[in-house]
Amino acid sequence: MRMATAIGLFLVTSIIAVPAGAEERPRLILQITVDQLRGDLPTRYYDRLGEGGFRYLWESGVVYRNAHHAHANTETIVGHTTLATGTHPSKHGMVGNLWFDRETGFTTYNVEDPNYRLLTAGASVDAKTEIDPTQRAARSEGRSPAAILVTTFSDELRSNTGGEAKVIGVSVKDRGAISMAGHSGTAYWFSKASGDFVTSSYYLDQYPDWVAAFNAKKPAQRFAGKSWELMHRQDSYQFGDTDDREWEADVGGFGRVFPHEYGDGTSPYYTTLLTLSPAGDELVLDFAKLALEEEQLGRDAVTDYLSVSFSSTDYVGHVFGPSSLEAEDNILRLDRTLSELLEFVDEKVGLENTLIVLSADHGGPDTPGYLESLSIPAGYIDPDTWDKESAITRIKDAFKIKGELIATYDHPYLYFSSDVKNDEKIDQELLEAAVVDELSKFPGVSLAVSSSALRRGNLPDTDLYRAVTNNFNSKRSGEVYIVFEPNWFINDFDGLTVASTHGSPWTYDTYVPIVFAGAGLKAQTVDRAVQTVDIAVTLSTYMGIKPPSGAVGVPLTEVLEN
Ligand SMILES: [Zn+2]
Repeated sequence: MRMATAIGLFLVTSIIAVPAGAEERPRLILQITVDQLRGDLPTRYYDRLGEGGFRYLWESGVVYRNAHHAHANTETIVGHTTLATGTHPSKHGMVGNLWFDRETGFTTYNVEDPNYRLLTAGASVDAKTEIDPTQRAARSEGRSPAAILVTTFSDELRSNTGGEAKVIGVSVKDRGAISMAGHSGTAYWFSKASGDFVTSSYYLDQYPDWVAAFNAKKPAQRFAGKSWELMHRQDSYQFGDTDDREWEADVGGFGRVFPHEYGDGTSPYYTTLLTLSPAGDELVLDFAKLALEEEQLGRDAVTDYLSVSFSSTDYVGHVFGPSSLEAEDNILRLDRTLSELLEFVDEKVGLENTLIVLSADHGGPDTPGYLESLSIPAGYIDPDTWDKESAITRIKDAFKIKGELIATYDHPYLYFSSDVKNDEKIDQELLEAAVVDELSKFPGVSLAVSSSALRRGNLPDTDLYRAVTNNFNSKRSGEVYIVFEPNWFINDFDGLTVASTHGSPWTYDTYVPIVFAGAGLKAQTVDRAVQTVDIAVTLSTYMGIKPPSGAVGVPLTEVLEN
């Protein structure tokens, strides 16, 4: 593998930027997304990293140290789709992992699609063991990118090459794969119910032989009887003496201390436990390597695209917190997983022929318990303790509302009932303002924003309001957007208590790494403020193809003129 050369090498000559001609294009674009990889995490334990993973990217690539998502609801589908499309949720439409669909009257999961089915029987969500409440909300097993309202960079690559560019997205999470593969690529993800990698009839009628063969070997079973153990001596870790913290969640018997045992493979939570540990990323690595090899990605002059979204960092963050022994070991293991992936790509395609971009769908908060141990204010919000009934009664009396006022709260939006929405005698703007007033009185609420105020555009031009505006899609957003105080969040999801939850517009949730490397790029560190919408536009400009249909980002000149 080609290792890092000089750090901090700057170009002194200015180069006239011309779009890459067909002969200069990289053979492969490798887009790596690490779920919940807050911007500080790749370098937090820098002296413990090995060669070839984060170090290769950070020491040979163009590293943006001041990159943020510019939308308010920093959730997984929102961030992935922003990375893929170069635009905000206002345009790409993925305003949350869930939203209330006014046409059906039900809460919708972002990539569910009743027009399709999974190609594997028994692979759909098992409501009894599924710990992801957004997945449980899906009312059908089929999945597709139909709800993404614009094109992705990967779509534009396919379009530019007459469909010859191969596009594949892989992740543990369906939404982590589908978003990046776009409308015209193929997505594969891990089914916790069937323990293998699946896709939907949107993409294919049947599995390619290599997928069927991979699944026939029961890939998840290789961890049976094993456990997640520390890579190094426990006392050598920053968090080595604080493995057991009371705020860590014990999910499915996984426990709060090392070793975390996966069990013999028969527990209904077995595959879930794999996703809560580095094993989930290792399964994705295996599948991604096979996809690269079998689909012959990057082997000819037509540029192909592979997206790999690693989810373990997110689950580990939710369950143990990002400042935990588990998260520390996970970063070191993720570093090894990245190194293996890059080594494989180097062997098959060559890193000099591969343009790599790594970022994250969102950051994440530290756990309130950890922050409080350092005297930093933080806590969990429990809306059950709010006197909601009095507030609702006051509003209903004032507006002469007989039936229900609220249909649902799907984070971050409060949706009014359809009866109230459709009642022409009610001044919707005044009603929204009244709800904003009442909400603002509850402890933990930092800001409530009414959608009619957003529509009228008469809000102060501040970063928070801009982030809420960037999240606003008139068909899918609710009537009121609720922002909680920094480091305060709800940690109860349908009965499952987790240690921490992202999804706010505060900087720990918006802050992500952006690194471009490979393809002959030279090392450079950039500290100016950039946004995640810039990535897809940079890829398009680099390739000399048209940007995705809703793109609003600006090309990152340090990559183009490097
Ligand atoms: Zn995520």
